[in-house]
Amino acid sequence: MSLGSNLGNPVKHLREGILHLEALEGLEVVKVSSFYETAPWGREDQPPFVNLCLEILTSLTPHELLEATQGIEKRMGRIKKEVWGPRLIDIDILLMGEAEISEDDLTLPHPYMTRRAFVLIPLGEIAPGLRIRGIAVHDWIAALEDQSVTRMP
Ligand code: AMP
Repeated sequence: MSLGSNLGNPVKHLREGILHLEALEGLEVVKVSSFYETAPWGREDQPPFVNLCLEILTSLTPHELLEATQGIEKRMGRIKKEVWGPRLIDIDILLMGEAEISEDDLTLPHPYMTRRAFVLIPLGEIAPGLRIRGIAVHDWIAALEDQSVTRMP
């Protein structure tokens, strides 16, 4: 799963998001990556994003998980005025085992994950042996044009 924030105190929002996830029934957070600062995606006139990846164990179905993560985004007051605009927290489901889903509200694996340094680099940190669509996460990272994310101390 990938979490991102670029409003107010992003690190605080991400920590709060993790707490909300841990509080969900049927979900356990197994691993959390470092926090990474990244230049904004899509637009450049907004504050930097902070992103991280986490690994979970869950008994929820993909759609139940989506509903739960959207509930957290809403409760934390995501400002949903523009698609690429600032947000308190954004929670994306990257992969759920081998699941392949292509529906209006849910695509797995997440369609942009292999193009985004801010997803792949934290993901490679917590799951170095992972393969996405048959290709090793480190090969996806090597293929990125822009690998500029900064691991926060
Ligand atoms: P975003 O603005 O990037 O947070 O996108 C939110 C929308 O993406 C929601 O309406 C979701 O239904 C949809 N969506 C599709 N696939 C996924 C996924 N793997 N994880 C999270 N949201 C998804």
